[in-house]
Amino acid sequence: MFKFLKEKLKGWISKAEKPETEELPEKPEKKDKEDKKKDKSEKHIQKSKKDTKRQEQKANKKEEELQIQQEEIVNETKEEKFYPVKEGKDKEEKPKQLFSLFKKKLTEEKFEELFQDLELILLQNNVALEVVDKIKSDFKNNLIGEDLAKINLKQKLKESIEEILVSPPDFLNEIKQTLSVKKPFIITFVGINGVGKTTTIAKVADFLTRQKLSCCLAAADTYRAASIEQLQKHADNLKIPIIKKDYGTDPASVGFDAIQYAKKHHIDIVLIDTAGRMHTKDSLMKEIEKISRVAQSDMKIFIGESITGNDAIEQAKSFDEAIGLTGIILSKADVDEKGGTAISVGYITKKPILFLGTGQDYKDLEVFDKYKFIESLGLS
Ligand code: GDP
Repeated sequence: MFKFLKEKLKGWISKAEKPETEELPEKPEKKDKEDKKKDKSEKHIQKSKKDTKRQEQKANKKEEELQIQQEEIVNETKEEKFYPVKEGKDKEEKPKQLFSLFKKKLTEEKFEELFQDLELILLQNNVALEVVDKIKSDFKNNLIGEDLAKINLKQKLKESIEEILVSPPDFLNEIKQTLSVKKPFIITFVGINGVGKTTTIAKVADFLTRQKLSCCLAAADTYRAASIEQLQKHADNLKIPIIKKDYGTDPASVGFDAIQYAKKHHIDIVLIDTAGRMHTKDSLMKEIEKISRVAQSDMKIFIGESITGNDAIEQAKSFDEAIGLTGIILSKADVDEKGGTAISVGYITKKPILFLGTGQDYKDLEVFDKYKFIESLGLS
């Protein structure tokens, strides 16, 4: 899950935090010292040939020797200062020490260069442009002018993503609280065909049943006979009631009937499946709005595919505009190596991700935990 993005971010952080060796003070090389020594001895030979200036030469030689000794002392001191000889892991601390020694600040120019790579990584991994801009402005505000040695890019990225992700409400608690004053609790699910909608509704039903809450399903996608059959199969597997009508009947009436059934049989929660032909179609949105209004839904949940990036975000926006979403479930997160949809969809719609679908079995539904998600990106 989210492997590509995790690896790319790790690579970017380690590349960005690598010291700029070309700007470091040159470490004096041994060769210089040897050359100086060689020069010194050549000079000495030449000088020694001139008997008449022997005294002078001796004086010069002494002076040069003294100079070399002084230079050696200075160089050794520099070496110790920049590359202190310590044991074990201290070796890794050299770059930071060098940065702190020079107190180099992150300039705007250097920041742009640094961010360019990150921008590309984020965009290539389905992070929406709006979200990339937000991360950039967070970085800019916090990092420009900062001492390079003190900048912790991983921490900054973590903080920025943490702020971007909308904190999910306590799903179960909200349901239980409402159930104490109103029963049944009604959840309408929306999303386009093929994203894993019926499977996800079944997973939610299984999740709630395991919490000792009784559920029934409403097959309100009356436009597809296959979808009614599919939901029926899940209901059979989970041994929960399903309320369905003939193909082509008014979907709002299916929701209504399911609620009456739940009231009669003291069922806690009604889960309504809806059609999802094309999210851009006005008629579909009107129909879903009608189902939700007639049913007086307590929650309206959008189901989208984690792998589709901007498509899922655009779909979520359309449904939110039409019916006002409560939250989001991203299916197929198990096969999403990018993770950008999960980072972006909540920020753009301002709606929390409630669950991630993590496989094809009923148990493959994880309550979305933003800290766990950040951890899965290698940023904890
Ligand atoms: P619908 O047309 O939107 O109702 O989609 P379905 O519920 O029929 O699911 C379409 C396919 O996606 C099926 O093969 C599901 O098993 C699969 N699927 C659903 N959710 C997940 C998930 O979280 N992970 C994976 N890997 N597959 C899923």
